Order: sequence, then C-alpha cells, then structure tokens
Amino acid sequence: MEFINETLINSLLEDEKLNDENLQREIIIKASDAKGLTLKESATLLNITNPNILEELYHKAKGVKEKIYGNRLVLFAPLYVTNLCVNNCLYCAFRKDNKELIRKTLTIDEIEAEARYLVLTGQKRILVVAGEHPQKASMEFLGEAIDRIYSINIDGNNIRRLNVNTAPLSVEDFKLLKTFGIGTYQCFMETYHYQTYKEMHLSGPKSDYAWRLYAMDRALQAGIDDVGVGALFGLTDYKFETLALLMHAADLDSKFGIGPHTISIPRLEPALNAPAALHPPHAVDDLSFKKLIAVIRLSVPYTGMILSTRERAELRRDLFEVGISQISAGSRTAPGAYKESQESLDKHELEQFQLGDHRSLEEVVKDITSLGYMPSFCTACYRSNRTGDRFMELAKTGNIGKICVPNGMATFEEYLNDFASPETKELGKEFIKNELEKLEGATKRKTEQMIDKVDQGERDIFL
Ligand code: SAM
Ligand code: SF4
Repeated sequence: MEFINETLINSLLEDEKLNDENLQREIIIKASDAKGLTLKESATLLNITNPNILEELYHKAKGVKEKIYGNRLVLFAPLYVTNLCVNNCLYCAFRKDNKELIRKTLTIDEIEAEARYLVLTGQKRILVVAGEHPQKASMEFLGEAIDRIYSINIDGNNIRRLNVNTAPLSVEDFKLLKTFGIGTYQCFMETYHYQTYKEMHLSGPKSDYAWRLYAMDRALQAGIDDVGVGALFGLTDYKFETLALLMHAADLDSKFGIGPHTISIPRLEPALNAPAALHPPHAVDDLSFKKLIAVIRLSVPYTGMILSTRERAELRRDLFEVGISQISAGSRTAPGAYKESQESLDKHELEQFQLGDHRSLEEVVKDITSLGYMPSFCTACYRSNRTGDRFMELAKTGNIGKICVPNGMATFEEYLNDFASPETKELGKEFIKNELEKLEGATKRKTEQMIDKVDQGERDIFL
C-alpha cells in the first residue's frame, strides 16, 4: 500500500493555497504541452469552482485528447459470461448474498452465440466480464471461451481484440491468461480509500485490499503489457479517488516504464438489492464527474479513457468533449442478454447494474459521427505488437494519432459497408470524405489506398 499515500492526498485536499484561481489558470496553460501534471497540480485543478475556469479546463482537455488521439472514439461492447460470484461487494447485484438475482453461467456455445450477435452488429472488440468464481469462472473456462470467440469469422467479420475484466490473478495465472491472446487486462480498484474498501468488501477474496491493489503489478510482471485501471466513483470523495487513481498510474509508470493503457471511470448505477448502489455514500454529480474526467485527461494525456453505457446518452455526448477516447455501445450487463429480446432490457434479475444508455451500436455510431467524432473499430496496435512501452512511446510523443486516424477511418469504412443502414452510410461516407481532405502527403495517400481496398472487399486492413 506504500504508493497510495493517504496522508499526502489528504494534505493536498486540505491545502487552501490550491484554491487560487491564478494558479489554476497557470496549470491549465501549462497542460498544453501534454506532458502530464504533478499530483499537486491535479489536486489544484480538482478544486476549480469558477465556471469560466471550468470552461478553460474542458477546452484544454479536449485539445490534449485531440493532439494525442485525434477525433476518434474507439467502440467496444462487454460480454458477461457469468454472474456467479464469491464476493460480497455491497454495490453489485452479483454479490454472493443477493438472493434476488437469478444466477447464470453461459456455456461455451452460449458464449459463442453472444459473440456472434456482437460480430453481426459490427463490433470488433469485446470486453469479457465475469464475477469471481474459482469453479464457474476458472482459467480453463476463460481460455476455452476466449478461443471460441476468436474462432468466429463471418465473411471476414470477427472479434479482433478481446479484453478481459475479471478478478485479480496470481502471476502464474496471469502468465496463462496472456497465452490466451488477450488485449488489455482490466481491473478496477473500486475505491483506493482503505477504510471505505474494507466497509464495501465484507467477505471473499476481494476483501483483501493489497491483493487487488497489486493486481496490475502481478499482471505486468507476468508479461501482460496493457493493463486498465479504474475506480468506481460514488464510494468515497471523488477528489480523493481521482488523486489516488493518478498515484496508481504514476506508480506503474515509474516501476515498469508503462503507465496504464486505459483508465475507466465507472460511476455507481442502481443495482438490484445492492445497498451501496441504491444509496451511493458519496454520489458524484454530473459537473464534478465532468471535471474529474478533464483533470485525469490532462494528468495522464497518453492514457486511453473509457466511458461506458452506465451514463445516459445526453451526458455521454458532453463527456466525450473532455477527453474520452474509448466508449462501449449497445451493451448489456447480464449473461446471455444479447441474444434475448428487447424485453430483457426491462428485466433486472440477471444484470449487474442498470444502464443509462440503451441505444444500439448503430444509433451511437450515427450520433457520434454527427457530433464530429470518428467511430473507430481499430485493433491494430495490439495485433502489430504495439503494446506496452512500444504503444506508450508512440502515445507519449503524440505520434499515435498518425496511425490511429488512417486505421480508424479504414475500420469505419468497413463498418459502413458491412453493417450500416443507408442513412448512416451516407452520413459516414460524407464524414470520411471530409476527414480525408484534412489529411496531407503520405498519410493521406496511404489512407485513401486503405479505404479503396476496403471498398473492393478486403477486410482487416491496418498500419
Ligand atoms: N468481478 C470482477 C471484479 O469485481 O473485478 C470483474 C468484473 S465486475 C463484474 C466489473 C466492474 O463493475 C467492477 O469492477 C465495478 O467497478 C463495476 N460495478 C459493480 N457494481 C456496479 C454498479 N452498481 N454500478 C456501476 N458499476 C458497477
Ligand atoms: Fe463480484 Fe465483481 Fe460484483 Fe464484486 S463487483 S460482487 S467481485 S462481480
């Protein structure tokens, strides 16, 4: 626990000097270089209350995100394989003591059916999610599930990057997980605040704070290059949580030379028979949520930031503006829910928590395109071995955009040709045409060639 220094965080939170508006403005200006911020600077920005300075913060966060990643938004969907769990997290419907939840573990065939559904809507990235269950969600089961998902190929359409969000493993099991060919290993600390953590996790392996805190150290030691951290906002004071999350990112960067590949910022949503979700102890309002996202973006400019469908559509539009680079779309949080009819949306007996954004992938694609974002289904970095420090080097020097933009455009063209309705297709093609005009020289030529190839029927083209 030595790298989560609660005393330091609390002293920053109590420091009156960090309310200085001139200082806040200076830090925002300094953040233009996209080199990140010190913890004290991040704490200062979290203290902003003046609406004019907040606007400056949002504007800068958008600029930094675009400098590094361009205007793309990467899309994915979660695939829940089991809702059985041996833990008792007070905010989650999957918790062991929740007798109102109907328990279900998918068979490998059912997992394939879910993944096929996602492939046929146009998804290329899946996040496999599971409760913690040594028997039902064993390593063997996960390996088989991942193999089966990767084996699907429907006319060149397939899942090309499979990330996982599962319970922390030992170094040995992480080594095994790596052999399954996963992209990012994700695990959220939920809360870095030790006392709150203890109160929220009453029993099961997850009640061990240190085991979870060091999960990413073990994953990196085992050779998993891309790790995704996060905190579940609403459990403790959001400023504390944000600073602790940044401390975690800085610690990984200093120890392994690789910061987290992604940071997730889930916010507590209502969940069946989950007391802490129904009455969040430190509910985070929309304004504070937007602010903390912008502060994280400026603090760790090179890291992908993920926003899920927990948030409602209207707010998501607003949050994309301040530095989000990856989003889920068309999601369900119950095992087997994709295959089932729309009616399942109204049933909460199987799901982990309730979603705020119920739109289909196509509706989200159409919406973000009209807002000026490039929907990207790109999975190139992972498959070109640009993971870990190789990815970080590109991201930290701001060069990743040169690869992301052409790759994102080619995958968007694929989506439009294979899955979009005529209306979305028209909108998307016009968007791509305009984006191409913004490119120059070799990048433009290369991108045009890639798009031509896609139009001639080639699939999975990337730099
Ligand atoms: N069971 C594993 C674990 O806890 O790490 C992996 C997956 S868990 C199903 C995925 C994440 O869902 C958790 O890490 C937590 O942050 C989030 N979550 C749980 N309950 C939630 C709720 N009520 N609202 C929003 N997110 C929630
Ligand atoms: Fe289980 Fe994860 Fe839910 Fe906790 S958050 S009860 S570990 S599924």
